[in-house]
Amino acid sequence: MNMYFDISLAEGYKSAAQKTRVLSEAWVTENVFCPCCGNPHISKLENNLPVADMRCKKCGEVFELKSKNGNIGKKILDGAYETMIERISSFTNPELFVLQYSPDYAVTDLTFIPKFFFVPNIIEKRKPLPPTARRHGWVGCNILYSNIPEQGRIPIIRGGRFIDKDIVVNKYVKVKSIQTNNIESRGWLFDILNCVNSIRSELFTLKEMYGFITVLHDLHPENNNVEAKIRQQLQVLRDKRFIEFLGNGVYKKII
Ligand SMILES: [Zn+2]
Repeated sequence: MNMYFDISLAEGYKSAAQKTRVLSEAWVTENVFCPCCGNPHISKLENNLPVADMRCKKCGEVFELKSKNGNIGKKILDGAYETMIERISSFTNPELFVLQYSPDYAVTDLTFIPKFFFVPNIIEKRKPLPPTARRHGWVGCNILYSNIPEQGRIPIIRGGRFIDKDIVVNKYVKVKSIQTNNIESRGWLFDILNCVNSIRSELFTLKEMYGFITVLHDLHPENNNVEAKIRQQLQVLRDKRFIEFLGNGVYKKII
């Protein structure tokens, strides 16, 4: 497998952002399978759509690609805030690939984020552009990458090596059971999942979960019964086979 971008494709493009886009898209369509259905290839879409870059011809899922030289960090710069919120609220946002490459243009990491992991809490509104800017007043957004639960950041390439296709597709199929059309309840579910993930041991207790009440209340100030919400979302995670109830307020993570 050739992990390097084909630099010759960038000839004629002036901006660094355009070059990266052309090179990384070409590489992904040449080398990456569809993480939703396992189709060996994903096809490039014409660039007349506002966000979507690629589409799987077998399952029809549409993907957007964001690429970065080096580490992703905590946030990913995205487009207009209002558009993003509208898309995630109307379920028209695409699946997301996050690609990292080295200074010599070799792909090091590729992560797949299923579209239903996008909830308002992971979208950060940026400050409006200042009066001196050409598009002054325009409001962009950041994707708070590190706030997405680890179950929603499915690795496809790590350290320059592909993860087995079956492992990737199985992970996707499992997390897909989390998908609901109610964006608010999904937001709650991911916040509770983040709390569960932050507990290191395989076993944990309801009492430990109640330790997150303040954090959760800050995220959802409108809710006055966070304890009940925690219990309810733990039941959802149990029904989706992410955790097991062992009785007496003790839970076990299902890896
Ligand atoms: Zn597919």
